[in-house]
Amino acid sequence: MKIIRAEHLGMCFGVKNAIALALETARREPLTILGDLVHNETVLMELRSRGIGLEQNAAAVATRTVLITAHGASEHRLNGVRQRGLNVLEATCRLVHVAHRSLTKLVAEGYHPVIIGKRDHVEVRGMTEDLAEFDVVLSEEDVTNLRERSCFGVIAQTTQPIDRVRQLVGLIHEKFPESEVRFIDTVCQPTKQRQNAAIELAQKCDVAIVIGGAHSNNTHELVKTCSRFCLRVHHIQTADNLREEWFVRAETVGITAGTSTPDAVIHGVELWLKNFAARLAVHSNQTKEAYDLAFPVA
Ligand code: SF4
Repeated sequence: MKIIRAEHLGMCFGVKNAIALALETARREPLTILGDLVHNETVLMELRSRGIGLEQNAAAVATRTVLITAHGASEHRLNGVRQRGLNVLEATCRLVHVAHRSLTKLVAEGYHPVIIGKRDHVEVRGMTEDLAEFDVVLSEEDVTNLRERSCFGVIAQTTQPIDRVRQLVGLIHEKFPESEVRFIDTVCQPTKQRQNAAIELAQKCDVAIVIGGAHSNNTHELVKTCSRFCLRVHHIQTADNLREEWFVRAETVGITAGTSTPDAVIHGVELWLKNFAARLAVHSNQTKEAYDLAFPVA
């Protein structure tokens, strides 16, 4: 059984920087992170073990300093936190800032804002909470429900697959041929690299293993992408979730991971697979030897 890794996988620089800022700050002073810094339980457990508080609501924060996650937040939310007398540290990824600025620019130029993404995702809420009017779309049906405007300004949640984003932008053009549709591509480069690498990987393997948190949007997107090219795809959070029966007659097993999956977790999965492959190889050699003994060539 051969094990291959996607060319690009695992934690992106935005998540790494956010974790580094949280750990560095927590060494100096008590810290609470507002919201999930990443959608990965392994990372969150590690942060808790360092004494870092994790809260979803500013009212529950017991420290002077709070950290805003890599997903970013709206000005409205940031001001609310500041008004409680808390020091706000922003770990917002610079590519999320790019998406916020693109949206602000489109609105300032008079475009009706449309965000391609998940309405209830923290990053999308951060983009939309300051807007008086906006639409969030993620499906053909959502586009069908859009009201006609003279000009649409479209951006995307940073972790959406770019082919879906382009398809939806095309549908907006089709549905409103008289309207101006201006699209700014805000899907981040690490997401594009991981998506493209997942396509290449899934085409080459019999089983694809996607590692990432149960609530990680970009991990779910990797699962969907791999499933288009590979029939046996499994989403796991750690090596403990792997099952030997998944690899029956699998010659090539591919590994990919979402942008919040730590390297140590990926390494643990790879190690489990290598050990399993080594046991399989020993077993198949023993079977061959027994066969040769039972049926020697005349
Ligand atoms: S997924 Fe992209 S936008 Fe989000 S933190 Fe990582 S690099 Fe930044």
